[in-house]
Amino acid sequence: MRLFVAARLPQALMEALGETSALLRDTVRGRYVAPDSFHLTLAFLGDVSGTRVSDACAAVEEACEGQPPIRVTLGPLGSFGRRRRATLWQGFSQGVDEMAGLAGDVRESLADRGLSYDATAFAPHVTLMRAADLTAGLLPMPVVERGVLDTVTLFRSDLSGDRPRYEPLYDVTLRQPEGDGPEGFSFLV
Ligand code: ATP
Ligand code: MG
Repeated sequence: MRLFVAARLPQALMEALGETSALLRDTVRGRYVAPDSFHLTLAFLGDVSGTRVSDACAAVEEACEGQPPIRVTLGPLGSFGRRRRATLWQGFSQGVDEMAGLAGDVRESLADRGLSYDATAFAPHVTLMRAADLTAGLLPMPVVERGVLDTVTLFRSDLSGDRPRYEPLYDVTLRQPEGDGPEGFSFLV
């Protein structure tokens, strides 16, 4: 089965991304990601035998241990690939280092279990559309919102239908480590 690990996005971010996507519809033609499917991919495993799913779950669990939730702010639009058939995404202006750290830990835990993934350098982004024709017109200003990422999920991707479907297989919640106050301050009694 086709697997990837992604952070889920809180409601406020999903709505902001949906608004950006709606603004784009006026000017950019292409294949839009369904607004209920937005996510931040941390590691893409691709085809994995069903017998290895529990190892992938364990890798996500281990990578998230001790990882606090991440404060993020949406940022500018960006693209990968050719201008006529680009992947168009919205990036982040806050939380980038933390997201990169988390992605690195997830990838390391996968590697420790002999699970392979696409090792392309992590660039935090949320894909809004694919096969986007960016040759015509100006892009709108994206809608920006803040939020906290606190759930990392192992997803199964099903590309057999008319649009991709992502099925959550396993969720891990990020938690603030206990006694981890500012500047190492913590209550002892
Ligand atoms: P489609 O491939 O039909 O456009 P999709 O890209 O949404 O659909 P998948 O290809 O299964 O579905 O990808 C699932 C997630 O993993 C998406 O966030 C996608 O951007 C990301 N992804 C896919 N391939 C790679 C890859 N080689 N490296 C990194 N991330 C990838
Ligand atoms: Mg794809």
